[in-house]
Amino acid sequence: MAKALQQSKKPSETSLDRLASVRARIARAARDAGRDPRDLTLVCVSKTFGPDDITPVIEAGERVFGENRVQEALEKWPPLKASHPGLELHLIGPLQSNKAHDAVAFFDVIETVDRDKIAKVLASEIQKTSRHPRLYVQVNTGAEPQKAGVLPQEADRFIESCRKDYGLEISGLMCIPPLDDQASPHFALLNMIAARNGISVLSMGMSSDFELAIGLGATHVRIGSAIFGGR
Ligand SMILES: *Cc1c(COP(=O)(O)O)cnc(C)c1O
Repeated sequence: MAKALQQSKKPSETSLDRLASVRARIARAARDAGRDPRDLTLVCVSKTFGPDDITPVIEAGERVFGENRVQEALEKWPPLKASHPGLELHLIGPLQSNKAHDAVAFFDVIETVDRDKIAKVLASEIQKTSRHPRLYVQVNTGAEPQKAGVLPQEADRFIESCRKDYGLEISGLMCIPPLDDQASPHFALLNMIAARNGISVLSMGMSSDFELAIGLGATHVRIGSAIFGGR
């Protein structure tokens, strides 16, 4: 009964209704945590959605978007960027070294730096193109074999190596907790790794757990389906 009611509500709900609700929930979670909502950045995750779905969200004032595939972003965003100055695009999916050139050329933030090979090609592309996307290290907090990200116990060494060996500025950390785990310990772990490495940006929290992440120090929440609907 409750489920049927919930579903029957969905079709009339637009992405703008959902965006308004997400914004309100972010603000409430921030205040509950004694934080200023203005210190939180909403990264609207638009993967799989096209310009017709994305444009209203831009027109509602959102400027920061996340995509998980370089190729998809390259196909979809150039016209949107041209008609809406000031957009900021985040790469939130795994980066292959043969895509590093395009990623550096196109994205403003790369959230998925996670191994020496990628650090090395990014450093070289940044030097060549003199574009400087902000870089976050992805940490595989659940040590899941199929998931990208540096292992938690290797994070300090990797961050130091990015900085010292490759001259990269690492400004943030990102994680995706395991689907079937409590998210809180993963958010707390990411926060701890950031603190001891002098990193102030924490990209954590998605549609299902962003309020929890805000309570544990997230500065960037990456939200897709709660805004755009199911994929
Ligand atoms: C898809 C995706 C999100 C958004 O997920 P939702 O559950 O739809 O909010 C966030 N982060 C990453 C890395 C993703 O790939």
